[in-house]
Amino acid sequence: MGKMTTKHKQKIGDKMDRALYVGRFQPYHLGHHEVIKKIAKEVDELIVGIGSAQKSHTVSDPFTGGERVMMVSRSLVELDITYYVIPMADVDRHAIWVSHIQSLTPPFNVVYSNNPLVIGLFSETKIETRRSPLFKRSIYSGTEIRRRMINDEKWEDLVPKAVAEVINEIDGVNRIKNLSSNDTLF
Ligand code: NAP
Repeated sequence: MGKMTTKHKQKIGDKMDRALYVGRFQPYHLGHHEVIKKIAKEVDELIVGIGSAQKSHTVSDPFTGGERVMMVSRSLVELDITYYVIPMADVDRHAIWVSHIQSLTPPFNVVYSNNPLVIGLFSETKIETRRSPLFKRSIYSGTEIRRRMINDEKWEDLVPKAVAEVINEIDGVNRIKNLSSNDTLF
C-alpha cells in the first residue's frame, strides 16, 4: 500500500472517492502513468488492478503478476495518493468478473477504463465509470515497447525509470527475446 497522504487524513470522515484502474501493464508505461497522474488529481485513493495476473512468459504477456506489481508500485511512489496494487487473475465467465474484482479489492465507487468490455460490465452495476484515454498512444504502447525489446531498439524512455529497473533486474529483455524465438518454432 502507498503512503498515507495529507489529503487522505483531511478526508477521514468525509465521503471518499476510491477509484479502480485495471490494465494488463505488459509492461506499465508512461502512457499508463499519465492516466494515473490525472486520476490521482480527481480521487482520494486509487486501486490499480493488474489484469490477467495469471499470464506470463508469452510474447504478448511476458511479465508475471508479481513483476507487474513491482513495476506499478515502484512507479506510484512519486505520486501524492494512497494506492493499492492488486493482481487479478481472469475468470472464464464475464458475468461474474465484477464480483470477482470486488472480492479482491478494497471497496471502490468509480472505475476508470477505456476498454468497452470493462465499461460495459461495470455499467450494469451502480459503480460509476469514467473514460481514461491513453496519452500519446502511438508511442506509449505495450505492443510497441515489446517489439522494441525484441528488436534491440531503445525502449527505456517509454517507461518510468522504476519500470526499466525492474525489467533489468529480472533480465526481462532476454526473456522476451527467447520467447519470441521460441514462438517461431511452434
Ligand atoms: P488490456 O488487455 O491491458 O489492453 C487492451 C488494449 O487497450 C491494449 O492495446 C492496451 O494498450 C490498450 N489500453 C490500455 N489502457 C488504455 C487506455 N486507457 N486508453 C487506450 N488504450 C488503452 O486491457 P485493459 O482494459 O487495459 O485491461 C483489462 C483487464 O481486465 C485485462 O487483463 C482483461 O483480461 C481483464 N478482464 C477480465 C475479464 C474476465 O476475466 N472475465 C473481463 C474483463 C476484463 P497497452 O498494451 O499499451 O496497455
